[in-house]
Amino acid sequence: MNSGRLVRIYLLLLVFITTLGGLLFWGIYHQTLNTIVSELKLESNILINQLSKQISLAFIEIHSDLLYIIEQQELRDLNPENTTPIKLDHIQESWKSLVLQRKRYDQIRFLDHTGQERIRVNYNNENPIVIEDEHLQSKKHRYYFTESINTPPGTIYSTQLDLNIENQQIELPLKPTIRFASPVYDNNSETIGVVILNYLADNILNEFRRISAGFAGNAILLNWQGYTLLSPESAQDWGFMFPDSPQTGINVQHATAWRTIQQLNRGQEINQQGLYTFDAINPSGNKLDSYCASCLRVLLQIPKELIDARLWRQLTSSVHLLGTTLIILFVVLAIAIWNREKRNLNERQLQNLNKRISHEHDLFLSGPSIIAKLRNELGWPVEFISSNITDFLGYEPDKFTAGELTFSNLIDPDYLQQYSQENIQADRDRATDFKRSPYKIIDHANKRKWVQDTTHLIRDEFGKLTHYFIHISDITHLKQVEEQLTESHNYIQRVIDAIADPTLVIDINTHQLKLANQSAINLYTNDKQLKEGVTCYRLTHKRNTPCSGKHDPCPITEILKTKHTVSAVHKHYDSEGRVMHVDVRATPIFDESGENLVQIIESHRDITDTVKMEKQLQYIAETDRLTQIYNRTKFDEELKNQIAWASLANQNFGLIMLDLDHFKDVNDNHGHDTGDKVLKRTVELLHNRIRKSDILARWGGEEFMIIAPQIQQDDMFAMIESLREAIAGIDHEHVGTVTASFGATILTPNDNIQSLLKRVDMALYRSKNSGRNRCTIL
Ligand code: GH3
Ligand code: MG
Ligand code: MG
Repeated sequence: MNSGRLVRIYLLLLVFITTLGGLLFWGIYHQTLNTIVSELKLESNILINQLSKQISLAFIEIHSDLLYIIEQQELRDLNPENTTPIKLDHIQESWKSLVLQRKRYDQIRFLDHTGQERIRVNYNNENPIVIEDEHLQSKKHRYYFTESINTPPGTIYSTQLDLNIENQQIELPLKPTIRFASPVYDNNSETIGVVILNYLADNILNEFRRISAGFAGNAILLNWQGYTLLSPESAQDWGFMFPDSPQTGINVQHATAWRTIQQLNRGQEINQQGLYTFDAINPSGNKLDSYCASCLRVLLQIPKELIDARLWRQLTSSVHLLGTTLIILFVVLAIAIWNREKRNLNERQLQNLNKRISHEHDLFLSGPSIIAKLRNELGWPVEFISSNITDFLGYEPDKFTAGELTFSNLIDPDYLQQYSQENIQADRDRATDFKRSPYKIIDHANKRKWVQDTTHLIRDEFGKLTHYFIHISDITHLKQVEEQLTESHNYIQRVIDAIADPTLVIDINTHQLKLANQSAINLYTNDKQLKEGVTCYRLTHKRNTPCSGKHDPCPITEILKTKHTVSAVHKHYDSEGRVMHVDVRATPIFDESGENLVQIIESHRDITDTVKMEKQLQYIAETDRLTQIYNRTKFDEELKNQIAWASLANQNFGLIMLDLDHFKDVNDNHGHDTGDKVLKRTVELLHNRIRKSDILARWGGEEFMIIAPQIQQDDMFAMIESLREAIAGIDHEHVGTVTASFGATILTPNDNIQSLLKRVDMALYRSKNSGRNRCTIL
């Protein structure tokens, strides 16, 4: 498979998966964010409604208290001219019981139309008291008086929520307060004054804290200007009341949201700092104006960090799931791609093969070869077969492709098993193609034809063998020639087998045997047939290297020199390793041109017996029967050779002749047999004492000759004296001592046989004449 292409595809896949992952993450991120924001919005809305409702309800209760007070006839009857102490007492008592019961009003006051406090009841921590007249003050310049005195009947006026101030000091502990005022009219609809309720705002502040306690973000109560009255960061609360503290409110810290809050009063905004949910309440119960000094704002802020934290908490599990899904997707796609690539590769290979098939189809259609594509199924159905099958076997290709004939129908049943086995073996070997052994095919006329094919194995993507693509050649002619050759080979074999002598045909270059007849095989081997590649030297000499030709000339070497028939006697070894003498006759065989020597034919004749007999005869001819040393004939030959050799090599030799003294007497006195024993004993002594190179021979009767090559006169004399003494030293049984006389001479350059023999004879004669048992050198 093309691994580069695969790597590229995998990289693309990785990019795709990463992009997909990014997009999905983006989608999930926004989806989750939207969900969280929606949830938080809903949560904030619910809470803000609850808060606004509670605060508004509190204000409504105050309104109803205030309206109830101003509607009291006793109060309405209070005009400056018509004041009676009893009536005041009555009002004061009812107010005392009201503050005690309600627990939310710090003071209830009545200011007459001039701004003078006329009645004032203080809550005084659950001990309501009526302020004495002398402590009542004029409030004619206070804004809550001036702004409420001229309002229509039933109007509720409220101040902003701030901290109570007593004697120009902020009262401690802090006392958040809102003043509610409403005008009091008499029965003639004349304004007689205002009732002012100092509301203890801790009531609503505590309620605010309680309701917003579980809120995840910041629940803040603001005044109209954006200063915090109640917030989680309480240090900043009431900052506007303390000129020394930093005058920062929401308008600075949340400037973006503040602009919307001012515009809308009620609503929600999400921005870079978080989610803002806000509402506004007018304590007087009137509509919200663009400027409403006493109005309150409720703000719920969920910081961005909190949203993000919640978002990431939810995203983490989603991201894990997404990551796992993407990894699985990647793996699944990677496997799918791998399989697809593999399938594509197989398809490409198949296409290439089909192309090749069609190419070869074109190539071979007009030629002698048949091509076919077989399915690897029972009987090998034919998917395609080239049309020249008709010329070759007489079948139309349609017969095969229509399924009427399978390929196995063509194969001679004798070769079906071979054919099938070779297919199985090639599949096992994972071969891509193989050359099949020859087999026979049956044609339309039921005639056998020899064919051979080259088979390509075609596999599917899983490596399963599906098809064979075969390329069949007609080898009938080759087979005929082969059969003829085999026949002629057999014929030649039969011919040479008929030759009685061992006969070999040897390759001149390799020395290997091309043929050997049965006689040669039987003689030299224990096998029935000639082993292939056996050399002539292995067969006959039992050697692993060619013969040196040192002892016996090699026929091949000789023939190469002479180009003619040669003969030689060779020492061979038979199958048991026995030595045999063979008369080898070798004849050259030339190639067709008649010039080049290619083979030789060797014929062997066992002449071991003849050689033995000849040796025996020769021995007899040259050996003295009694003493078993050389006889005179052999001596003459040796002497002749020695003279010739000496003249060639410019060397000399000594010739010694000895004759037993008065031997006739030994015979006469002790008999011929005893004489023979004396002769044998004497020869034994001589044989043992002479040098290896010396030649001892019986010259005749009791006379002996010794040829002593390369010897000086002095040495020779010492030698014959020693021999003479030794002979004389033998004590022969019954006979006693027998002596011998010695004559000797050294060869001179002018000598021939006669002159040499004459001189030695003369030397012996002198020894005899001078008394016997002595030595003479001439
Ligand atoms: P000398 O040489 O000392 O003059 O005396 P001789 O007796 O040895 O002389 P001669 O040469 O005349 O005699 C040789 C004798 O050797 C004659 C013969 O009987 C004997 N003789 C020759 N050949 C053989 C043989 O083969 N066997 C035996 N037993 N005697 C042999
Ligand atoms: Mg003698
Ligand atoms: Mg003699």
